[in-house]
Amino acid sequence: MKRGRLLIFAAPSGAGKSTLVQYVMSQGLNTHFSISTTTRAPRGTEQHGKEYYFVSIDEFNEHIRRGDFVEFEEVYTGRFYGTLKSEVESRLEAGQNVVFDVDVNGGMNIKRQYSDQALSIFIMPPSIDELRNRLVHRATDAPEVIEQRIQRAEYEISQARNFDRIVVNDDLDRAKQEVLTIVKQFICE
Ligand code: ADP
Ligand code: 5GP
Repeated sequence: MKRGRLLIFAAPSGAGKSTLVQYVMSQGLNTHFSISTTTRAPRGTEQHGKEYYFVSIDEFNEHIRRGDFVEFEEVYTGRFYGTLKSEVESRLEAGQNVVFDVDVNGGMNIKRQYSDQALSIFIMPPSIDELRNRLVHRATDAPEVIEQRIQRAEYEISQARNFDRIVVNDDLDRAKQEVLTIVKQFICE
């Protein structure tokens, strides 16, 4: 059986990454979403084992100690996120394409480990102002959390050139088609 491939998506928070990831995953491309582990609290309708594995800091440290993670990062101060090995290898072996929604550092780390087996895509917002607009309209984060996310966005955008592809999410339908074309080409190579 053909081994699956890795599809890495990174972007500043609010750029539309989750929206585009969900779209790609709805296209019958034999994908598996890598469910990350995080110490942040669930927001909105998020459920344990669906969007994330929500754990305490002690449980997160225990995963680190056991060497369970492919990569992990303190994405925001005091908030940790990590990709479990158990979400990746067995799926690739089974021929599934594994999709990652991670921060830029995690994305570059996974790409380094899997090189040609992985495609890294950076979703670029049209501007920082539009990013703020989207986060405000999404209405899932407190104003101070939105400001933290905006501050980090500048660093994340500075890393875009380290990704295989950059897709500007201006018009959503156009961005969806661009991402789909890139992904299909990569997994059919
Ligand atoms: P991320 O996962 O990058 O944080 P989301 O996918 O949650 O971002 O998108 C942030 C908000 O912006 C959501 O409310 C989403 O519906 C909206 N959004 C996504 N893409 C666009 C776009 N091209 N134009 C306008 N709004 C968008
Ligand atoms: P959020 O709190 O908005 O769900 O995610 C915040 C940031 O953490 C996003 O950029 C998201 O992609 C990133 N993230 C989610 N899971 C992981 C992970 O397993 N590893 C890393 N490095 N970043 C992650």
